[in-house]
Amino acid sequence: MKKYQHYIDGSWQDSISKDFIEVLNPSTGEVIGEIACAKKADVDSAVIAAKKSFDNKVLVDMPLAERARLMRRIAEEIRKVADEGGKIISYENGKPISGAIKEFNDTAEYFEYYAGLTDKLEGRTIPVGSGIFDYTVLEPYGVSAQIVPWNYPIAMIGRSLSCAFATGNSSVIKTAELTPLSAAEHLAKAFHNADVPKGLINIICGYGEEAGHYLSSHSGVNQIVFTGSVVTGKKILHAAAEKIIPAVIELGGKSAGIVYPDADLDKVIESAKNGIFTNAGQICTAMSKLVVHKSIKDNLIEKLSNLARSLKVGPGYEKDSELTPIISEKQLEKVEGYARSGIQAGAEAVAGGKKIERNGFFMEATVLNNVTPDMTVAKEEIFGPILSILEYEDPEEAINIANDTDYGLAAGVFTKDLKQASWTANKLESGQIYINKWFAGGLASTPFGGYKQSGYSREKGQDALMSYLQVKNVGIQI
Ligand code: NAD
Repeated sequence: MKKYQHYIDGSWQDSISKDFIEVLNPSTGEVIGEIACAKKADVDSAVIAAKKSFDNKVLVDMPLAERARLMRRIAEEIRKVADEGGKIISYENGKPISGAIKEFNDTAEYFEYYAGLTDKLEGRTIPVGSGIFDYTVLEPYGVSAQIVPWNYPIAMIGRSLSCAFATGNSSVIKTAELTPLSAAEHLAKAFHNADVPKGLINIICGYGEEAGHYLSSHSGVNQIVFTGSVVTGKKILHAAAEKIIPAVIELGGKSAGIVYPDADLDKVIESAKNGIFTNAGQICTAMSKLVVHKSIKDNLIEKLSNLARSLKVGPGYEKDSELTPIISEKQLEKVEGYARSGIQAGAEAVAGGKKIERNGFFMEATVLNNVTPDMTVAKEEIFGPILSILEYEDPEEAINIANDTDYGLAAGVFTKDLKQASWTANKLESGQIYINKWFAGGLASTPFGGYKQSGYSREKGQDALMSYLQVKNVGIQI
């Protein structure tokens, strides 16, 4: 069985305890590798390495043109490992290989995007009257701890790490215990081959309650970036509050698309395929509800159920697989339980509704009709391939249904009327609005983040930069 290691201070290392975590292939349930399991001593080593590189000002004193060149070299090296690394993501996470490779390519793009900004982060001079010259300086926090989930094991690292690096922070990344292999081997190899000075980027894996908790409360950490569930997000915020350090918080979602009567239904179907059935719906911004006008509901339901039934089920590493597995048996039970609860509450499964009897952890692509806003399936994040259909008659009613959730990560609108689309976008309480295409506008340059319990601060785009920088004001008596 292949053993994978932490990447600390520029080299691959076992845990000091020599403990390992088994990693499963969710398409078969078989063990595919073992990853070193970080305990307190390993977290200490990673934080100390990061702190040393920060205290030695390795990145801070590097001429900015050189930092930008280094970031472009990292991007090049990431592209070189994308095919091999993508294959491993597909084995550990289950997703289609094309989407897995894209995670590496997106990460390369994040590095290129922020390489272009790293030498453009400027302070200001502030007129304060005669006798005093006043200016501001933007400074990194120091050690940035980044804790990531399993659904996008590389891309979630890419968007935080690239911004942390561009702003001069040193990083410790804790990968998810279910999907750590591609980062431990391929991403770390890209950093190594790009000659990233040691200590600037450290990648460890360990259990959340143990290594994650210890890292987030570590006295050597100066800023936290957390991507994951609301339950864990609250724990991270408590840890950050104890030390009074800032945290970027990217949590779950329960996102609805509103379908107006004039919508192009082919676009809705395409969005359902990508937005709720890709990666088996294990996407924070999944299109988990459609709020559909009464006049077109029957027609759309027929198209959606045909789509759900037509998807080819299989592992992401097998050609043409469209409906890939849920990450674990436990998660599959949970997702199936949601479908059951919806049906018991009065929804009708017009497609799917159960787990699939085969090796691995597969759930049928499910479309639930006649869902009402009070049902659990309409309120809670499912994180599986279940699309709930709710009906409306009046646009204000549709917006109330879409906003009736504690989350605010994404929302969508399908209409040919741009005036109606922008009116709706203004009223939706959400960090991302997709018009006529789910995920429209999701690039390295566009800010991403949540409203309400989906979190705060932003990742990606220029808006993310200030989450990784602090402002120092300097006044000089002339
Ligand atoms: P999770 O909260 O269980 O775990 C996320 C990470 O936190 C893992 O690395 C885990 O080991 C670690 N962790 C767990 N307990 C911890 C603790 N007490 N202290 C510190 N770290 C701890 O989430 P998950 O199940 O891995 O991911 C799914 C969730 O992530 C969903 O809710 C999804 O919507 C969300 N997500 C959000 C975004 C976004 O950008 N908003 C992106 C992807 C996923």
